[in-house]
Amino acid sequence: MAIVPGLYDLDRGALDQLLDGEPRYRLDQAWTGLYDQLLAPADITTLPKSLRSSLEAVPTALRSVTESVSDDGDTVKWLWELPDGTRIETVLMHYDDRSTVCISSQAGCAMACGFCATGQAGFDRQLSIGEIVEQVIRAARRARPRRISNIVFMGMGEPFANYDNTWGAVERLHGDLGLSARHLTVSTVGIIPGIRRLADESLPVNLAVSLHAANDALRNELVPINRRYPLDALVAACLDYFAAKGRRISFEWALIADTNDRASDARELAEIARTCRAHVNLIPLNPTPGYPVLGTHPTRVREFVAELRSFGANVTVRQTRGTEIDAACGQLRAGHEVTVAAPRRRSPD
Ligand code: SAH
Repeated sequence: MAIVPGLYDLDRGALDQLLDGEPRYRLDQAWTGLYDQLLAPADITTLPKSLRSSLEAVPTALRSVTESVSDDGDTVKWLWELPDGTRIETVLMHYDDRSTVCISSQAGCAMACGFCATGQAGFDRQLSIGEIVEQVIRAARRARPRRISNIVFMGMGEPFANYDNTWGAVERLHGDLGLSARHLTVSTVGIIPGIRRLADESLPVNLAVSLHAANDALRNELVPINRRYPLDALVAACLDYFAAKGRRISFEWALIADTNDRASDARELAEIARTCRAHVNLIPLNPTPGYPVLGTHPTRVREFVAELRSFGANVTVRQTRGTEIDAACGQLRAGHEVTVAAPRRRSPD
């Protein structure tokens, strides 16, 4: 089935064409209704009925299949179905000082990181700009009266394997929804050409790199794309990004018991983080069906943090959200069945 452009694929120019022959203020009313008031076309009552109908005739992309809530309402996860039956997920997280939407840039993912549920299920297809933007619109409606302050491209998919639409969405979120560039974060598995293109863009968004291992032997295993973009080249690209943008990169590190949580890992990670002047974001591994390994024990997480600090790295531990609704990092799989492996028991401390 061909992907037809949806309502949120239309930028202002395209909407202007759709409302061809109407006075300019009608375009303004439609635009304000869609992007300031976050209304569905049928609810834009400033427009006459005929114009509302022409907007309603343009399909939207996301049909909610399930909406799951956890953390006392502070975390909401949606499973959406797209018009061709493809499924994706989006997560909204409220914190005291901000509300963040974690969005998908692809349906599925081809990067095949073994510990990630999206990677376990494989790649379906690219998302369009509108399919990315609409995730934010839907979450922003649900968040009211709170406002969305931050967007992270940390849902399903690898943003730099869908660079043009990811960047197109960034520009729309910034220009049309008014999100500040410094509150937008693109997370990559380490696609070097994408990092280099991002460094040349005018908007200074945040870059997060999913490192997970700080030597090539282990990273080849955990993050297979490392064979194509090995650590030396990745570090060089991160250094250039920092030089071009002056913005601190963050390194994500899923702490996997007895795999990348040893003192030697802390030492290697701290060295790379210091070289790149990056901030380390530790995420104790969240359970996924296809990876029979446990996350690092909380006691060891605290030790690992102390070790990193003693080696001079900046580090925080990411607060896990939505584990019980499979909304946490690496758990998004949009209802795909993944072969379940028996968990490997961690030996007692
Ligand atoms: N493809 C991009 C965007 C995904 S972001 C990237 O790799 O950065 C999702 C983050 O969660 C990544 O840092 C990913 O490595 C991490 N992650 C994946 N599986 C995880 C798991 N089971 N537990 C904790 N973090 C995980």
